[in-house]
Amino acid sequence: MLALDVGGTTIKSAVIGSDGARQLTRTVPTPVADGPAKVVQTLRDAARSQVAAARSADIPVAAVGVVVPGIVDASRGVARYAANIGWSDVPLRDLLRDELGLPVEVGHDVRAAGLAEVELGAAADLTDAMIVVLGTGIAGVVVSGGTIVQGHAGIAGEIGHIPVGNLEIRCNCGAFGCLEMFSSARAVSRMYAERTGSTLGADEIVARLGQDDDARQVWRTATATLARGLVCAALLTDPQRVVLAGGLSAAGDTLRDPVAAAFAAGMPWRDTPELVVSELAGAAGLVGAALLARDAAGKGPA
Ligand SMILES: [Zn+2]
Repeated sequence: MLALDVGGTTIKSAVIGSDGARQLTRTVPTPVADGPAKVVQTLRDAARSQVAAARSADIPVAAVGVVVPGIVDASRGVARYAANIGWSDVPLRDLLRDELGLPVEVGHDVRAAGLAEVELGAAADLTDAMIVVLGTGIAGVVVSGGTIVQGHAGIAGEIGHIPVGNLEIRCNCGAFGCLEMFSSARAVSRMYAERTGSTLGADEIVARLGQDDDARQVWRTATATLARGLVCAALLTDPQRVVLAGGLSAAGDTLRDPVAAAFAAGMPWRDTPELVVSELAGAAGLVGAALLARDAAGKGPA
């Protein structure tokens, strides 16, 4: 399966086997500054060159899965809107199917990453779990009674907009105090820049934790706010395990340990759900895209 994960910073791609093994992994910058048409062209080029590379390496590609941020109409394969890419109503499924002559499925990046954890990752074989994806924003997938909770409008699990942070800070969604304004990779960057005037990536800030007091304060806010959000979600759904995934989860125990301590402190009267960091980390979106591709292959050429 060819998997493509379109983010606001990079477009990742890989050919992925049914066991989740990745080959031909590639990353190219997302040319957001050049406009949405250029992003779509870059995606088409990446897909075409990966299919050609797979063919010349004798790796079968039966179908294509693409995951994108923002609002997605998965049934029509349309990327409806993404603030960090600037596109609206792009018929990705039809465009890529025509380009490649293969069945294509399009899905939401966070939901696909959650699906990857449920099928092949840290939430496999659990009937009650929660996957929280910490990327540019924050979103989650709730598994309850063995089923992924969809909700009335299909947007259950939007933990990023639980108002557990400073209520004077306005979120991109229009509300105040949203979790993702404090605990996403972008928020860590923003809070550090507000204190110091220097713009660093979240990974660079994490790397400075031992010797930089501003980094330490920002990380404390990020992890404490995340723990408060997890407490709210865990009290509602009673998961056996909470999986932290997405780019920020690359921080590993540096993320897990303070969040786990505050998570437990927030529920002193009950056993705390197990808190783990995803082993798929930043690749969960790609693996999720491959699972969508598997579904597309099952349906045959559309
Ligand atoms: Zn919000």
